[in-house]
Amino acid sequence: MKRDLTCIICPRGCSLHVEGEGKALTVSGNACPRGIQYAVDECTDPRRTITSTVRVSNRENCMVSVKTADPIPKAAIFEVMACIRQLQVEAPLKIGDLILDDVYGTQIIATKAVE
Ligand code: SF4
Repeated sequence: MKRDLTCIICPRGCSLHVEGEGKALTVSGNACPRGIQYAVDECTDPRRTITSTVRVSNRENCMVSVKTADPIPKAAIFEVMACIRQLQVEAPLKIGDLILDDVYGTQIIATKAVE
């Protein structure tokens, strides 16, 4: 396997080149070790943090912004987004409040306070 990636861990955006099979991957183009970990993770178990909004049922025309506390498998994004779309919560809410537990080993949490 050969793959070219742009590291998204920091704004420098190094151009990474990955070669190898399975877990035996060689990464080049990284300016720091975090780029190696990013490239290996992206090629073996790609994950993303999801951000979205959830309806606040006891406030008029109100949504609260939410995100996954940790990245989830990239393949599960549409399933988790469909789940988030069905949620409703009640205010008051503060940043970090639990919205939904046990989503691919992590949680959906609020990223905005609602009085
Ligand atoms: S390899 Fe290191 S320096 Fe380059 S973009 Fe990734 S984190 Fe930043």
